Amino acid sequence: MNNPIPLTLPSPCWLLDEQKLKNNMRIIKYIKTQSNAKVLLALKGYALWKSFPLIEPYLDGCCASGIHEAILADEAFGKEVHTYSPAFKEEEIDKIASISHHLVFNSPSQFRRFANQAKEINPEISLGLRINPEYSVSPTQMYNPCGLYSRLGTTLANLDMSVIEACEGLHFHALCEESADTLANVLMHVEEKFGKYMAQMKWINFGGGHHITRKGYDIEKLIQLIINFKAKYDVEVYLEPGEAIGWETGVLISTVLDIVHNGMDIAILDTSAEAHMPDTILMPYRAEVVGAGKAGEKSHTYRLAGNTCLAGDIMGEYSFDSPLSIGDKIVFEDQMHYTMVKSTTFNGIKLPCIAIQRADDTLEVLREFGYEDFRDRLS
Ligand SMILES: *Cc1c(COP(=O)(O)O)cnc(C)c1O
Repeated sequence: MNNPIPLTLPSPCWLLDEQKLKNNMRIIKYIKTQSNAKVLLALKGYALWKSFPLIEPYLDGCCASGIHEAILADEAFGKEVHTYSPAFKEEEIDKIASISHHLVFNSPSQFRRFANQAKEINPEISLGLRINPEYSVSPTQMYNPCGLYSRLGTTLANLDMSVIEACEGLHFHALCEESADTLANVLMHVEEKFGKYMAQMKWINFGGGHHITRKGYDIEKLIQLIINFKAKYDVEVYLEPGEAIGWETGVLISTVLDIVHNGMDIAILDTSAEAHMPDTILMPYRAEVVGAGKAGEKSHTYRLAGNTCLAGDIMGEYSFDSPLSIGDKIVFEDQMHYTMVKSTTFNGIKLPCIAIQRADDTLEVLREFGYEDFRDRLS
C-alpha cells in the first residue's frame, strides 16, 4: 500500500483500497469502449457486495454459478445476470430463470431438461451452452477447466445439433491468470472445433481467467481479438473476469500473537492460511508481505503461520529488516479476490473483518464477524 498501514482497524482485517478498485475499473472501461465487448463480474472470485456501487457503473452485470450468486447479482448489482452451473437442480431452476438474462447449460442433457421450463418462466431469457475447446494452459490441474476428464463444458464429440439449433450463445471458460496471447490460442481451438456454429449465435462468452489488470497484460491485443471476432461472426462478445476485477486492490492485515522457536523462528498470527487465504495452500502460491523479503534475504527470517490447530496452516517463510515482536502487524498483499469468497470458520477461528479505505483516505469497517457466524453455520 502507498499509505501507512492503519493501526486502528480490528485485526485480522481485509482492507479494500477504493482508489485501486477504481483504477482497475478504468482499464475495464477502456477495453469496453475500444472493443464494444460486454464485461461481467464473476462473483465466484469477488463478491464484496458493499463495494458494488463503486464498480457497477463500469460493468454490464455479473456472472453467477448458481442460485445464491444469481440472487446476489440481482439484489446487490442489478444489470445483467448470467447464470451457469455445472448442473442445475429442478427445485432451483424457476427462481434462477426468473432473475437471469442469460442461462448457460453445461451439457446437452441439462439443456434438454430445463430449456423449455426456463423459457416459460422468462420468455426473454437467452439460452446458451458451455463448450469445452479441450485446450488450455492453466497453471495447475486444480484450476484447469479443460483438463483430462473435465466435467466443465461440452466437448465437440458430445455436441447435440438440436441443442445447437435452440442456442442463442456459446460459452467457454478455459483460462486461469492468462495473457491475451493465450486467449488467441484458445480462440483458435474454439474456432477450429465450433467455428461453424458461431455465425448462428447472438453472443459468445469468452469466460474468465483474463489477467487484464495485471501489469504487462497486452490490453491492445485483447481489444483486437474481440474486434476481429465480432467482425467475423457478428456476435456480441462477453468477458467475465473475477480475479482481474479485485486484482491488487487490497490487503489482509493480521497481528503477531506469539513467536516460538523450533529449528527456526515461527510467528503465529491471528489469521489463517487455511481459513482466510486458502489458495496459498491449494494453488499453492506465496502471498507477498509488505516490507518482507524471501527467507534469508533480510536479516531476520520467520515462518508465518496461522492460529488454527492444522499443522499445515502456514503462509510461508519471510524475512524482515528487524526482529518481529508480539503485536506487530503483518500485511499480506493482494488479498481481495478468492479469499473472502472462500473463507471458512474452520476451527472456530474468527473471520477477518471487512473494511474499506475510501479515496479520501477515510476508513470504514463494513462488517465484523463473531461467534454467531461460526455457530450459525453449524447445528
Ligand atoms: C471462475 C470463473 C470465472 C472467473 O475466472 P477468473 O479467473 O476469476 O477471472 C468466469 N467464468 C466462469 C464460468 C468461471 O468458472
